[in-house]
Amino acid sequence: MSLTIRHVRLPFLAPFTTSFGTEAERNALILLLDSDGVKAQAECVASVAPYYSYEDNQTALHVIRDHFAKLLKDLPTPQEFTLKADHVRGHNMAKAAVEMLLWDYHSKRKGVPLVRELGPSKGYADVGISLGIDKKEVTRKRVEAAVERGYQRVKLKIERGKEFDIVKSVRDVFPDIVLSADANSCYRLKDAPAIKRLDRFGLVYLEQPLEHDDLLDHAKLAKEITTPICLDESVTSADRAAQAFDIGAAQVVNIKPGRVGGLGNSMEIAKIAKKHKGHVWIGGMFETGVGRSFNISLASSKLVDYPGDTSPNEKYFTRDIVKNPFTMTGGRIRPNKGPGVGIELDERYLEKVTVKSWKIF
Ligand SMILES: [Mg+2]
Repeated sequence: MSLTIRHVRLPFLAPFTTSFGTEAERNALILLLDSDGVKAQAECVASVAPYYSYEDNQTALHVIRDHFAKLLKDLPTPQEFTLKADHVRGHNMAKAAVEMLLWDYHSKRKGVPLVRELGPSKGYADVGISLGIDKKEVTRKRVEAAVERGYQRVKLKIERGKEFDIVKSVRDVFPDIVLSADANSCYRLKDAPAIKRLDRFGLVYLEQPLEHDDLLDHAKLAKEITTPICLDESVTSADRAAQAFDIGAAQVVNIKPGRVGGLGNSMEIAKIAKKHKGHVWIGGMFETGVGRSFNISLASSKLVDYPGDTSPNEKYFTRDIVKNPFTMTGGRIRPNKGPGVGIELDERYLEKVTVKSWKIF
């Protein structure tokens, strides 16, 4: 039995800019478990710097190696692992990486696709696109290409002070597309008047306008604007999701398994949203083909009703570390047929893009 963690570096096709800054490559930790010939894989969605959350690859490596690796040796179910890992506060990206590794492992042991293990499935994931901040003309061209390509929703990254122009320049040309905007926490409640000006564009939701850990001000903002609020960063657990819906801080949640500690918690949040007549979709963290495959399986759940940021691999990378990248038809992607998460690792390319490797046990 062995556990190896590889740090891989995959260049993006094009740099991606959000209100945090610009990223030009994906630096991922890939977890590889081998037990009696059953080979499981997972990806930690942390990155090089603690910008999206306090976690980064260094903290994730430390927490997985020094706290979770010993729990893995008994090959617990994902649910058992989540309970056992609860004594570590936070570090959801590290938890999720191990939890997903166990989902893959156990569904492979059973010989069934992961998507089936996650409950009733639509059989496909509805796909939207997330566009980084760029020049207006460039953004408009990208929207046009996305619409032609069949993406079911276009999300624009916005930044404080430029939000109106960014959204207007697209809405003027594309009056009917399903459009949303993601602020990545760049506003405070005092910016409500500027945010309110976006109401006229009929956005399907505005994502995470306020502080990354706030619920209360979002609930106040929700009373001032007509655009539904979608929470991303603020929803870090099922309890937080329930609180957000209870106080009216959100009508939509962007579920990222990495942010909430794994697939089990993700499903829980989807159920909570449904109970509150809210909506959910699956977000992305520029995952390689490994993490992307888990997201597509989750996004295929019947509990997930909005298109997610689950583009096919080709949007981000010229070459991925999997041999079976996804293809999108009519704005939909079908999950791998498995067993497990169903990826075929491109071992040679994985070796090539590995910066460093740790044999944990
Ligand atoms: Mg977001």
